[in-house]
Amino acid sequence: MSTDFKATRALFDLPDGLIYLDGNSLGPLPHAAKARVAKAVSDEWGEMLIGGWNTAGWMDMPQHLGNRIAPLIGAEQDTVLVGDTLSIRVYQCLAAALDLVADRKVILSDRGNFPTDLYMAEGLINTLERGHELRLVDPDAVADHLTDDVAVLMLTEVDYRTGRKHDMAALTKQAQAKGIVTFWDLAHSAGALPVDLRACNVDFAAGCTYKYLNAGPGAPAFAYVAPKWAESVKPALPGWLGHAAPFAFETEYRPAHGAARMRVGTPPVLQMAALDAALDVWDQVDLQSVREQSLALTDAFMDLVATSCPSLTCITPSDHAQRGSQVSFRHPDGYAIMQALIARGVIGDFRAPDILRFGITPLYISDRDIERAVAILADILKNTLWDRPEYHQRAQVT
Ligand SMILES: *Cc1c(COP(=O)(O)O)cnc(C)c1O
Repeated sequence: MSTDFKATRALFDLPDGLIYLDGNSLGPLPHAAKARVAKAVSDEWGEMLIGGWNTAGWMDMPQHLGNRIAPLIGAEQDTVLVGDTLSIRVYQCLAAALDLVADRKVILSDRGNFPTDLYMAEGLINTLERGHELRLVDPDAVADHLTDDVAVLMLTEVDYRTGRKHDMAALTKQAQAKGIVTFWDLAHSAGALPVDLRACNVDFAAGCTYKYLNAGPGAPAFAYVAPKWAESVKPALPGWLGHAAPFAFETEYRPAHGAARMRVGTPPVLQMAALDAALDVWDQVDLQSVREQSLALTDAFMDLVATSCPSLTCITPSDHAQRGSQVSFRHPDGYAIMQALIARGVIGDFRAPDILRFGITPLYISDRDIERAVAILADILKNTLWDRPEYHQRAQVT
């Protein structure tokens, strides 16, 4: 199957003239989500009230949506569960993974990992009080640090700053050969590139739905539990909805089967309605063609910037095998440059201390958009149009 990117562009509600290169942070609004959320509010919440839990299928949405995400990440049915934030999912997956190798004390990650993943690991270590250690190494050196004392390898496949991509298959294999349990964060992978959790034999994974899956601000995260661990996982947050029989209201906790035990509390039904509609987009998308088009667009972006914006330093790998679906550059005045770009209708974002970040999403970005975006960027740099007081004013979210 190939993908008709003109057709997918028409599925999104994007303001005219805007070039949206921030879908790696918050995907745009799918038309279908607008209608679906309105319907969930009026026809379901409004009309059915409490009956919606049964009649509108609200209670099953965490599994239903997990099963819709599963094919996008190469997961088996009933191994993916939706709900809560990615931060919570990281905590849960890491706790479950650590519990499987109780005699080892090291969590291995890389220094480029997203702060919340590292903070959650430290928080878990403090809660457990069993002498665990978070060991951080350079992204390029992970393979050299897969030693016998490592319990869990916790990595984010694509680095949120640089767009550098790890080799999930190779690292998982090397880790498992040393008895290490693997946990992959797919925040910048799900919907961005093909992922095959089953073929890679990954143990645990988690990811976002508000980035490349376009489910809206605050949309819930997902967790994956490999079938081989379905019955041995001990949930660190054993909520009532992860119980085998929530409405038996038993005093003792009995976990549900597999990923379902990663459920905690009441699901965010309206956000899940948006996610359900956002996932419809993927019915007509082939992730292999998304990958090919993403690499073509990121290549074009990097080449055009190299020739027309010499003051920017590209920090995204040129090797396709090591690139996710974003392009990043360093510049000491990166913040002001990004504000000037946004004022001209090219939306990217900024990550401290000096990184301009651009998400490349073929579903609604064309080669023509890339050319226009770089032409505007070149104009802003060449004529120092970014050096105005208002562009130096830091907002809360950068
Ligand atoms: C975006 C992102 C998060 C965000 O976590 P939330 O709990 O959804 O705020 C976490 N980890 C990584 C790697 C991310 O890219």
